[in-house]
Amino acid sequence: MPQYQAVKGTRDIFPEEIAQWKYVEGVVHNLASLYGFSEIRLPMFEYTELFQRGIGSSTDIVGKEMFSFLPDPNGRSITLRPEMTAGVMRAALQKNILSSSPVHKLYYIGELFRKERPQAGRQRQFSQFGAELLGVSSPAAVAEVITLMMQVFHSLGLQGLKLRINSLGDLNDRNRYRDALKSYFFPFEEMLDEPSKERLEKNPLRILDSKNPALQEIIAGAPRLYDYLSVASVEDFEKVLFYLSERGIDYEIDHRLVRGLDYYGHTAFEVTSSELGAQDAIGGGGRYDALARELGSSTEVPASGFAVGMERLLIAMEKQALFAAINPHASLLYVIVQQQELADHALNIAWQLRKAGIKTEIDLAGRSMKAQMREANRMRAAYALFIGSTEYETGLYTLKNLLTSEQTTLSLDSVVEMLGQSDRKATV
Ligand code: AMP
Repeated sequence: MPQYQAVKGTRDIFPEEIAQWKYVEGVVHNLASLYGFSEIRLPMFEYTELFQRGIGSSTDIVGKEMFSFLPDPNGRSITLRPEMTAGVMRAALQKNILSSSPVHKLYYIGELFRKERPQAGRQRQFSQFGAELLGVSSPAAVAEVITLMMQVFHSLGLQGLKLRINSLGDLNDRNRYRDALKSYFFPFEEMLDEPSKERLEKNPLRILDSKNPALQEIIAGAPRLYDYLSVASVEDFEKVLFYLSERGIDYEIDHRLVRGLDYYGHTAFEVTSSELGAQDAIGGGGRYDALARELGSSTEVPASGFAVGMERLLIAMEKQALFAAINPHASLLYVIVQQQELADHALNIAWQLRKAGIKTEIDLAGRSMKAQMREANRMRAAYALFIGSTEYETGLYTLKNLLTSEQTTLSLDSVVEMLGQSDRKATV
């Protein structure tokens, strides 16, 4: 085994997989733009307080999963971003973008870091794409982010997804509910596990998130937040559901769904995939009207958003063979040289083809013609251009379509003319 291995919980992405990533990213860019979202790119690290304030110190992320460090002994603690929403809001407030236009629709694709125990579908460095709609608080806004997320899944052809949705109500609703939960769980205190005991005081809603099988029965008997919602909160939620139904988006109401982060209110949602094992959440999000104030904003910035885990999305797509049709070399021409004396001539031809915009590959290792053909097939090249002594003398080359086996003899100019066009067609 080589001496150095990638750090546990991280992984390398090699070219074959990059083609899959680019394909998914392409769909994300197109659809986000279709819905009027613009891309934002943020620093990989922020001051630790941003996440402590923004995500909440009683959450697992802040409590135990952040990679934090002191860049210099007397400096402020810095944390590798464990999620994007707090950073997006920080950036929006810092640049004061909402003063120029009250609504901002932003999306991102990027890496995140959480010190979780690595397992299938759970890494310490992973990627998400997501969207944040800042400046409006309405059922239409949250329905818009859910619709965008679901359209990405739909465009990718992903099946077997389940969208679960809940309303967390407003702050008053939740305060009333928190009290009710405390009273309910209190008699069971001795039976709770350590994390839940801690949550009982700080954030009893999070007990509902517990995956501990021993607690499921107690949790099942807990009061439902839904029963503590005000009339206005119920109406808000029903309007979101109305939009989803109207758009043919299936959902399941899940009164236990609270999500891990503190800043959510009203609608919260999560999507799971039947293709994933224990870590089956592929994406989620909700409305977070309270975040901006939490970060010190003097004005309210209502907002909604979602985040989808790229790695899990790719795993689910791979299982459903959704990448079979992707061929990054669909328009590739492989120059095959028959005699090594003609290698320099072949290199010159390859250079001319590339200069003319034709995706071209050529052997640089002096391999036999058979080996070159094997490589062209391995790369799933679309064409082979043969260069032998006759071709060299006449300036007419044999171009073989590797898909149909059709062969034509052409001048280099004609090759450029033909493939220059078909290349463009093939990449649309
Ligand atoms: P969250 O920000 O926790 O709601 O996560 C949103 C999505 O990111 C999840 O549904 C997962 O798909 C993905 N995700 C979260 N944590 C990890 C992780 N440690 N490794 C891989 N993907 C993750």
